Amino acid sequence: MTPTTDAATDTPYPHLFAPLDLGFTTLRNRVLMGSMHTGLEDRARDFPRLAAYFAERAAGGAGLIVTGGFAPNTVGWLKPFGGKLSWPWEVAPHRQVTRAVHEHGAKICLQLLHAGRYGYHPLSVAPSKLKAPINPFTPRALSARGVERQVAAFASAAARAREAGYDGVEVMGSEGYLINQFTAPRTNRREDAWGGDAERRMRFAVEIVRRVREACGPDFILVYRLSLLDLVEDGNAWDEIVAQARAVEAAGATIINSGIGWHEARVPTIATSVPRGAFAGITARLKPHVSLPLVAVNRINMPQVAEDILAAGQTDMVSLARPLLADPQWPEKARTGRAHAINTCIACNQACLDHVFENKVASCLVNPRAGHETELNYLPATLKKRIAVVGAGPAGLACSTVAAQRGHAVTLFDAAGETGGQFNLAKRIPGKEEFHETLRYFRHRLEETGVDVRLGTRVAAADLAGFDEIVLATGIVPRRVDFPGADHPMVVSYVDVLAGRVAVAGRVAIIGAGGIGFDVGEFLVQEGPSPSLDPARWRAEWGVDLDSDGRGGLTRPHPEPPAREVWLLQRSPGRPGARLGKTTGWIHRATLKAKGVKMLGGVEYLGVDDEGLHVRIDGSEQLLPVGNVVVCAGQEPQRDLQTALQAAGVATPVHLIGGADVAAELDAKRAIDQGSRLAARL
Ligand code: FAD
Ligand code: NAP
Ligand code: SF4
Repeated sequence: MTPTTDAATDTPYPHLFAPLDLGFTTLRNRVLMGSMHTGLEDRARDFPRLAAYFAERAAGGAGLIVTGGFAPNTVGWLKPFGGKLSWPWEVAPHRQVTRAVHEHGAKICLQLLHAGRYGYHPLSVAPSKLKAPINPFTPRALSARGVERQVAAFASAAARAREAGYDGVEVMGSEGYLINQFTAPRTNRREDAWGGDAERRMRFAVEIVRRVREACGPDFILVYRLSLLDLVEDGNAWDEIVAQARAVEAAGATIINSGIGWHEARVPTIATSVPRGAFAGITARLKPHVSLPLVAVNRINMPQVAEDILAAGQTDMVSLARPLLADPQWPEKARTGRAHAINTCIACNQACLDHVFENKVASCLVNPRAGHETELNYLPATLKKRIAVVGAGPAGLACSTVAAQRGHAVTLFDAAGETGGQFNLAKRIPGKEEFHETLRYFRHRLEETGVDVRLGTRVAAADLAGFDEIVLATGIVPRRVDFPGADHPMVVSYVDVLAGRVAVAGRVAIIGAGGIGFDVGEFLVQEGPSPSLDPARWRAEWGVDLDSDGRGGLTRPHPEPPAREVWLLQRSPGRPGARLGKTTGWIHRATLKAKGVKMLGGVEYLGVDDEGLHVRIDGSEQLLPVGNVVVCAGQEPQRDLQTALQAAGVATPVHLIGGADVAAELDAKRAIDQGSRLAARL
């Protein structure tokens, strides 16, 4: 499609910024902000925050925004008292959201999501009485009248959405929620008019689309989210998916958005190790079969990725969800040729999805303002100060750039020759290549905000005279171990391994199975370019087949052979990795398992000698015949400077952030959040 307007021609990404004419309305560009639950949908009193959150994304240039999911009735709740739009009095709070978005020229659809058997409550319903493997609640099977009631609930909720000022709705038909449960034989064992053959299994979806269109009229956007890859056994077959797409188009859908993977699927779909644009090919596969616009999804986080997919004719729009949490200005920066200024989503899930699972408001590791737009603002400082920030890791970078943005004169010191702190190690882990983007973003921000950066400068207390505030962001020191032989040359720190300072043997034991132990495991089993940079290799490793005609899009996984034989050990009993992130821990465990890594808990370290590592497990002594032992035993705060400043009697206020403050359970989310919040009040 050839872009025609100025907006589309004055940009390096003309396909991305070509308007999309839907017949009765036009979207200003091809950026659809995908649905994300934020935790602000559930209570009317949070709607002013929700409105502010969406207003920033609309002001940043998104074309069409889709809200988080709202249930069409109580049985469709995702969780007890979750967001719902079924009663007349539930309409009014939404007007704040629609008004705020429209003021900035974007359009907005409300997502209608009926959780079905994924509902985390005892009222849940489904086509058949089959419990989901990821939910303790067993759903009630719907009667035929019950099915009719669900269809009617979708239609009436859509009408209420229109009343609330939405430009349309997105009907959630993927990810294994109720509609998807009807379409797939895995979850639909009915033999009435709503189950049995493929035609009857998709009737529920088609009826909902038809009735929503009937209830809302022709000039209302109806996005249907269709599962193009279920990634579960007994999911839909390709010919059934094509038939569903054609049927929902005929029933009145305006746009088809792609859905990838049920929540119970054991294939990662959005984690950082998933290659960029890994699933765009499945949207392209549908393209010749329908004439309405399609949306490609998942791991499209930079404008060039989006532009390439659009320019290749694979899709008509791209969905960006988390990338707009990370940077609300993403579309505007892209349109004006400032992709280098984008704060890129690194797909870590740590502050968005993990928060939602913990019933916390979703935010973003690289942008702590996300979800907190009404409360965390970087306003110009009333009193301009000279601020020294020691340490250019994530905490120091966030603190110095926010403080400088507010007008302070900031000097940032680091002993290393580059900014980034431990992120310079993290970026070397296969599957964590996105960390390069955060480093690039902060380098740009330092320049843009005018921070005086002094690299290669190990700071002593005497260097910190003449400042009004001192911020110590000096990070951590790796914890040492103290069993016999801990000083043997084969015992090395993860820092030396990741920095490439030691040649690691073919058999290795890793001591400590926290986040870093797992990362080092992935580093040691992978040699050569990471599959995360090569969609075809990555799909082969995980058993995903975009060309499959079979059910679910799955094939036999073909993990590449490991580069080394690895043991990953911890002293605590139980399964290593149990404390890793809720939404990503299983991926790290599965990756190492596929590479044959022996993950052992309840290990007592007896000592190291030339033969290897001697351990006791379940009361029996064993020798692990390794050539290296890599210590990943956690960290301690690096606070020498604080002690020195105190000893020198320096009166300047000193602040500790990041690892220098508390090393236990430190992650970049806390480091960046703490640095930003301190800078916001200095
Ligand atoms: P650091 O990043 O440690 O930075 C401290 C800086 O201070 C260093 O650059 C150091 O050179 C400098 N410094 C110290 N003393 C002085 C001095 N006297 N003078 C000048 N400079 C000094 N976190 C996540 O959230 N998600 C992940 O997926 C993740 N993966 C990781 C993978 C690996 C392999 C590693 C090693 C870490 C990972 N982390 C991850 C942890 C994350 O990187 C840290 O939590 C974060 O870097 C801590 O930030 P910080 O600014 O407190 O300290
Ligand atoms: P960690 O999570 O605290 O893990 C330390 C490991 O070392 C544990 O397995 C611990 O288990 C073991 N250990 C502790 N003291 C020991 C000792 N004296 N001798 C031997 N073993 C010891 O720390 P980390 O792995 O270094 O990670 C640091 C932080 O970075 C974490 O808080 C994490 O959040 C963050 N990070 C996150 C990710 C991510 O993907 N989200 C990735 C990397 C790092 P036992 O005590 O049972 O032996
Ligand atoms: Fe992306 Fe991580 Fe931010 Fe979530 S928390 S939006 S995954 S960078």
